[in-house]
Amino acid sequence: MVFLTMPAISTAVQVVVAFGGAYLVALWFSMIVWTYYDIRARSQDIYVHIFATALVLIFNVFGLLLYFILRPRETLAEAYERSLEEESLLQELEERPHCPSCRQRVSPDYMVCPSCHVILKNLCITPSCGRLVHPRWELCPFCGTLQVGETEGHGEPPTHGSNVPIVPISVFGPDPQGAGTPGPG
Ligand SMILES: [Zn+2]
Ligand SMILES: [Zn+2]
Repeated sequence: MVFLTMPAISTAVQVVVAFGGAYLVALWFSMIVWTYYDIRARSQDIYVHIFATALVLIFNVFGLLLYFILRPRETLAEAYERSLEEESLLQELEERPHCPSCRQRVSPDYMVCPSCHVILKNLCITPSCGRLVHPRWELCPFCGTLQVGETEGHGEPPTHGSNVPIVPISVFGPDPQGAGTPGPG
């Protein structure tokens, strides 16, 4: 029995060592492949690819540690996304309204340019509307009232345009009695 167990133990040890060795080799190989794909996502330089992969190939786990310290912080996709974001932010800044006269930046709800005092918007001539209307618009887009040359007025406030149907907004005015809607049934 003793003669049979001794070779059995040594075989078991050999198997464990072989498995461990294969595992370590697989781990090393995986680290090299991972590094190669990771550096390709972060740099387009072929020499950087070779350097990073060789670092892990030669120094193994310590090479991977060095690679983590040295690798570019952003991937190429992240850098591209960031540049797109910056570009859209810049475009947004440029698209903000400017005064047509002095090119100063103005807010969309300004009536007058604070720098050169040019009229940017007029108030709608309907007092109950009171929205801001561009001087070039003939109609108020909010209430449909024709805006008759307010800036060139002759003192008399212009009446509503004859062709434009004015629909009163609040048909059901403030009813003091409250529940005054007789419903059928
Ligand atoms: Zn201006
Ligand atoms: Zn209006």
